[in-house]
Amino acid sequence: MTDYYAALEVGKTATQDEIKKAYRKQAIKYHPDKNPDSKDAESKFKDISEAYEVLSDEQKRQLYDQYGADALKGGVGGRQHPGAGFSSMEDALKTFMGAFGGGASGGGGGGDSIFDSFFGFGGGGGHATEYATQGASKKISIPISFSEAAKGVEKDIVITNHITCETCDGTGAKTQGGIQTCSTCHGHGQVQQSRGFFSMTSTCPRCHGSGKVITDPCGNCHSTGRMRQKQTVKVPIPAGIDDGMRIKMGGFGDAGERGGPPGDLYVYISVKPHEIFHREGDDIIIELPVTFTEATLGCKKDIPTPLGGNCRVIIPDGTQSRKVLRIKGKGLPNVHGHGKGDLLIEIHVETPVHLSDKQKELLNEFQKLETPKNSPQKKGFFERLKALF
Ligand SMILES: [Zn+2]
Ligand SMILES: [Zn+2]
Repeated sequence: MTDYYAALEVGKTATQDEIKKAYRKQAIKYHPDKNPDSKDAESKFKDISEAYEVLSDEQKRQLYDQYGADALKGGVGGRQHPGAGFSSMEDALKTFMGAFGGGASGGGGGGDSIFDSFFGFGGGGGHATEYATQGASKKISIPISFSEAAKGVEKDIVITNHITCETCDGTGAKTQGGIQTCSTCHGHGQVQQSRGFFSMTSTCPRCHGSGKVITDPCGNCHSTGRMRQKQTVKVPIPAGIDDGMRIKMGGFGDAGERGGPPGDLYVYISVKPHEIFHREGDDIIIELPVTFTEATLGCKKDIPTPLGGNCRVIIPDGTQSRKVLRIKGKGLPNVHGHGKGDLLIEIHVETPVHLSDKQKELLNEFQKLETPKNSPQKKGFFERLKALF
């Protein structure tokens, strides 16, 4: 019969705090990092982790108190534990991490700093990570013209990157036998030191945790496995890209050290503003000045479009200033491929200046013939004004 309380050496009325403290104390004692080759410690570690998993969960603990461990093994209390005890060390370690991962959050009491430092190596990163490291990611900003943004373009950019060393093929060693297991830590990447009654593990100072040392360094790259070089990168810029957007060039950053994965290159786009095309999302706005006779009598205009070429626009007679004509699909292509925006033409009626005598004469003549019907807005305005007083 499994006795979880006995496993953790606590009484049946123990509080959650007491259970956690008891588990932490025992988990440290039987942790596999401290008992590398002991099968007894391993099974004890699994047992106490299983006990903690149940007793730290009030629902499971109640089931256990009433019906015993078997009630939980069928999966009554949620997670299934097939067979007796934790089937794998992985589960036991997960429980361990759960109990320690929160740092000082649940523990209370003065012992936590020591648990924290224990956690530092109990759950820290794996070995050999420092040996092959990922290259740095880079940012670069490039300016493009409005029309390049509208149509899309491919840009060559020159950057100085760390690239994989050609001499050693990125290994950092001149010859194949030039990489050897670190003799200080025997390839573990970590060394043990005794501090008081605790045995602490720390990163091996010789190989910096990689477990390997280069005994025959590549002269070309000083054993880093990479070298600096100017590179030309072709950046495909999609049509419709907007100012401030970013293109990720996966793997175009620095090469990793000694065969590690490369970083990425992030290209930030800045689009120079256009003289007459104003952008709003995928729509383009043009302010179009027309004469007052054109606006009055109506006209046809050829309007430039952002993708090149003109389109013919009919401005109907009686068009007012600030009227917006919308031409569907003549804006910018959507950068994600969702169709195209519109071209919006905002009419600006220009009042004529520098009139000749003849023009003045004709306009005076015209004025005499004007009726309120010619200016419904003006009429409406004064009628509303009158109603106010
Ligand atoms: Zn090299
Ligand atoms: Zn070492």
